[in-house]
Amino acid sequence: MDLEPLALPEKETPIIIAGPCSAETEEQVLQTACEIAASGVKLFRAGIWKPRTKPGNFEGVGAIGLAWLKRVQKETGMAVAIEVATKTHVTEALAAGMDILWIGARTTVNPFAVQEIADSLQGTDIPVLVKNPVNPDLELWIGAIQRLHRAGVRQIGAVHRGFCSHEKSAYRNIPLWHIPLELRRQIPNLPIFCDPSHIGGQRNLIAPLAQQAIDFHFDGLLIETHYQPETAWSDASQQITPESLCRLIRQLEVQNREIKA
Ligand code: PEP
Ligand code: MN
Repeated sequence: MDLEPLALPEKETPIIIAGPCSAETEEQVLQTACEIAASGVKLFRAGIWKPRTKPGNFEGVGAIGLAWLKRVQKETGMAVAIEVATKTHVTEALAAGMDILWIGARTTVNPFAVQEIADSLQGTDIPVLVKNPVNPDLELWIGAIQRLHRAGVRQIGAVHRGFCSHEKSAYRNIPLWHIPLELRRQIPNLPIFCDPSHIGGQRNLIAPLAQQAIDFHFDGLLIETHYQPETAWSDASQQITPESLCRLIRQLEVQNREIKA
C-alpha cells in the first residue's frame, strides 16, 4: 500500500500519544495537558464525542471542547488527536485545526460510517489512526484502512486496542496479538500503535501491555492519562496520572530505539 510516514512532531519511537479518555472541563484538559507536556510527550489525545453503550452516560462535551484543545496546542505546543465518528465530526475537527484524527473501535465495525468519514477526508492530508473493530475481524480492520486509502488519505496508522470476547479474561478487551502482527505482515509499512489502556481496562495492566507491544516492535503507544484518574467521567479505572505515565515511559525497555527520518 503506498503510504506516507506520519508527519508527527515526535521523531523518536515509540511514539507516545497520551491524554484523557474524555475532555471533561477546560481545567481538566489544560491541567492534564501541561503535566503530560512537562514529561516531554508531544502528542495529546482527548475524546469530545464519546460512543457510549447506553444513552444517558456521559457522551462527551461535544464541539465546545475544540476550543480547549486549541488552547492545548497553543499553550503546550503538543499536537492534538481526537476521535471522529461522523462527517460532521470530521468537518468540525478540520475547521478547528486538529492535528490527528482517529476512528474508534465502534466505528471501524461499520463500513457505511467509515466510508462517510473517508469521503469527508478527500483532499486533506491529516494523519488518521484506525482502531481495530471491537470484534476480532482482521478483514474489517483492513477494509477500513483501504476505504481511507481509496479516498486519498496517505498518512494512516493502525491502533490495536484489543477485542471483545466472551472468554473469561483479566483484560477488558483480549489482546489477540496475532491479529495486529498479521496486519503488519500484510501491510508492512503501516505504523502500528498499541492502546494498552483499552486492552487492560485497569491501571496495573497497562505497563506490562505497553512493554509487550514494544517487544513486538510496535511504533507507538496510545495511553489514557488524566490528572485525577479516579474522578474521570469515563474509563476511570484504566487512566493513569501524568506522573505514572512518565515512569512507564522511562521504564520501557526499548531495543534499537530508532530515530525516524
Ligand atoms: C477511546 O479511545 O477513548 C475509545 C473510545 O476507544 P475505543 O474506540 O478503542 O473503545
Ligand atoms: Mn476511553
